[in-house]
Amino acid sequence: MTSVEMLAKNPGASFLANAQASLTKAAQALNLDPNIFALLRTNSRSLIVSLPVEMDDGHVEVFTGYRVQHTTARGPAKGGIRYHPSVSLEEVSALAQLMTWKCSLVNVPFSGGKGGIAVDPRRLSENELRRMTRRYTYAISPIIGPNIDIPAPDMNTNERTMSWISDTYAIIKGESNSEIVTGKPVSLGGSLGRIDATGLGVAISVKEVLKRAGKPMEECTVAVQGFGNVGTWSARHIAEMGAKIVAVSDISGGYYNPDGLDIEAMADYVKQSKTRTLEGYSTPGLSTITNEELLELPCDVLVPAAMENQITEANADRIQAKFIVEGANGPTTPEADAILQEHGIIVVPDILANAGGVVVSYFEWVQGREGFYWTVDEVRTRLHHFMEVAFDDMYTFGQHRNVPLRQSAMMLAVQRVADAVALRGIFP
Ligand code: NAD
Repeated sequence: MTSVEMLAKNPGASFLANAQASLTKAAQALNLDPNIFALLRTNSRSLIVSLPVEMDDGHVEVFTGYRVQHTTARGPAKGGIRYHPSVSLEEVSALAQLMTWKCSLVNVPFSGGKGGIAVDPRRLSENELRRMTRRYTYAISPIIGPNIDIPAPDMNTNERTMSWISDTYAIIKGESNSEIVTGKPVSLGGSLGRIDATGLGVAISVKEVLKRAGKPMEECTVAVQGFGNVGTWSARHIAEMGAKIVAVSDISGGYYNPDGLDIEAMADYVKQSKTRTLEGYSTPGLSTITNEELLELPCDVLVPAAMENQITEANADRIQAKFIVEGANGPTTPEADAILQEHGIIVVPDILANAGGVVVSYFEWVQGREGFYWTVDEVRTRLHHFMEVAFDDMYTFGQHRNVPLRQSAMMLAVQRVADAVALRGIFP
């Protein structure tokens, strides 16, 4: 069955199959000990919870929630919480694995976790969302903790969700424990510079890959798919670094102007729009295009920053960008990856490109433990350092082994985790 056929059946299963395939490929290239490979293929812990929630009209809806810890070899599990109808055990497992490799690659002392609820949050009122989040926190509280597993925002969750989780956990434990989540508001112990950290990390990845190709940012055009947290902040920072953003898209469609877009105006429009999307946005010189068309535009850099499985064997042949910097998790299927490689398109993989969020999450956790908070400049300077070192590690490893960036990122990340597992040994 091809990825496209699997996608139609169960997007989460296809995503997990892709994650497993890329681990297998890295393990083979590393000649990994089969015992360690067997361990890394499975989750160390998966929890499925039923969440009865009283809706505003008095009836009760039961949602299904998940929390998965892939490993804890290099430190506590770390990973976001996603609210989306597609959330499944397979999807969350794939995302938890990705978190393991991401934390390893950027060298923060965490392992991979992920969670979520299968729900369309747009259907729920603020009060329903709050009750659902508190019930979910209660349900997963036996397996999370500041030294066990530290959740964070992901798709359709945000600072407000983290505040509810932090408060619920504090009530359950009877003590203030703000390091239980990252991505909190600054007034509740969050870090300055967290809100835009993933986008800044994407922009730093764009800068690093263009630098190695000898292309000045100022001469490059960029298309960004997705205009949520990652897409908006990536576009802002990339524009600030000098490149021209020619297209962005969200669930309402794509918006294209070859002369460049005004990202601030578009972000303001979304903030004020009822649907929180770009629907209805217009300005002179702007064409509306489909999401599919955005992916295939002539531009230097494409930043898929919406969701997984966007670049597949069905459209990879038509991608015209010379560089793809993966803001979303898993936006490219393995079949598409092979096609892009044949076409000489350089892909900066998700586990590096979108790791800025987890790096600043690590900074937030450190600051919470110290009870001492950094300035935004300190956060950004350290984020630049972590991302640049990680990019260089990945790039150099790939050059020595003559493999593309995705393969070198995975090999380096898996090797570090495997080393940690080998040093710990198998219990008992
Ligand atoms: P978000 O919910 O803030 O934004 C998602 C955006 O994608 C929205 O603009 C939405 O309209 C758009 N979208 C949804 N479906 C689309 C489609 N079919 N075509 C085009 N646009 C579509 O989510 P986010 O936090 O920005 O996360 C986006 C991706 O980045 C996810 O894959 C997530 O796992 C990954 N990620 C997020 C973070 C983070 O810090 N938020 C960190 C690492 C990775």
